[in-house]
Amino acid sequence: MSKPRAYSVKAYSTASAPSPLAAAAIPRREPTDRDVQIEILFCGVCHSDLHFARNEWHFTQYPAVPGHEIVGRVTKVGPKVTKFKPGDIAGVGCMVDADPSCPHCRKNLEQFSPTMVGTYGGMDKHLGLPTYGGYSEGIVVDEHFVLRVPENLNLAAVAPLLCAGITTYSPMRHWKVGPGKKVGIVGLGGLGHMGVKFARAFGAHVVVFTTSESKKADALRLGAHEVVVSRNAGEMAKHAGTFDFILDCVSADHDINAYLGMLAVDGNITLVGAPEKPLPVAAFSLIMGRKSLSGSLIGGIAETQEMLDFCGKHNITSDIEMIRMNQINEAYERMLKSDVKYRFVIDMASLKNS
Ligand code: NAP
Ligand code: ZN
Repeated sequence: MSKPRAYSVKAYSTASAPSPLAAAAIPRREPTDRDVQIEILFCGVCHSDLHFARNEWHFTQYPAVPGHEIVGRVTKVGPKVTKFKPGDIAGVGCMVDADPSCPHCRKNLEQFSPTMVGTYGGMDKHLGLPTYGGYSEGIVVDEHFVLRVPENLNLAAVAPLLCAGITTYSPMRHWKVGPGKKVGIVGLGGLGHMGVKFARAFGAHVVVFTTSESKKADALRLGAHEVVVSRNAGEMAKHAGTFDFILDCVSADHDINAYLGMLAVDGNITLVGAPEKPLPVAAFSLIMGRKSLSGSLIGGIAETQEMLDFCGKHNITSDIEMIRMNQINEAYERMLKSDVKYRFVIDMASLKNS
């Protein structure tokens, strides 16, 4: 494999955990045989971007360019690409490469492959350089990791589906959320609000747990049947021992035992939120009622395509607030205050003048 040439694109990057994001140039590879080159139109802002930019998971290499909820237009394809042609609209999520012969990839679970390369924070095997995310003019990705986007939907509001969408869709499919099931969604942020939409679309009875009293009306509008303000012990007690499944979408430290107490016998809580610090679990929270606590990471490529097609069919998108690239640092501060309704999306055309 000969090394492709690199070219330079404009991006928003950070140089250290305390530094703000600012304009910088980053390298991309010239498309190889199976690559798709994409001009980025919209990029969602995931809380993982913030954890990563600020090294809260303790593996960030700098400079770092976040962004893994990408929708754009194909500008060039390699000679062996069959799924896309220039002019097509395409999406890219959290992964950009993996060895297709690995056992996980053969089961369509690329996200668990030890060879999986993250859209940012991974290693571009062609250039031998770190991967940089979607806060940039363009990206070059192996076609297996490029998704078809339903063009009947608002493209800016589709971008968050590439992470927040699949991260909530996949565990609910795995745990068979559907009619007759009582489902809780903890944390009404970017992931949580997509969780509400999917749980409702799958036919479950949906209850939102929020720390923000002000989000009550929105939770109902988004599809919840009931809303519980988790700071209110009386409201919490009413639901004790009644849930089949709870999706925990919280980005910060919180008491997981309080939610284990909400589960019925054999109920499950799946963590998708990834707070910096470990969450202590009391053994008796699990023992009493044969309860389980598990985790889930995004979803495989085939399931991501299935989710996008489902959204196209059922008219599901994210509720977004569009920002300009140079508002990203302010958006991070608002995200930390749970003040996002319900996903920031960057209009990447604004990068030119940012
Ligand atoms: P977000 O938009 O900031 O939403 C997080 C929500 O958590 C907030 O809106 C808030 O909801 C609640 N919250 C925040 N601080 C809290 C606290 N101290 N106690 C209780 N609740 C609190 O974040 P996001 O983009 O949805 O991401 C959520 C988490 O999932 C992040 O940790 C992210 O890294 C992780 N993630 C994981 C995956 C995966 O594959 N597993 C994928 C994407 C993201 P209320 O205002 O309703 O209380
Ligand atoms: Zn994400």
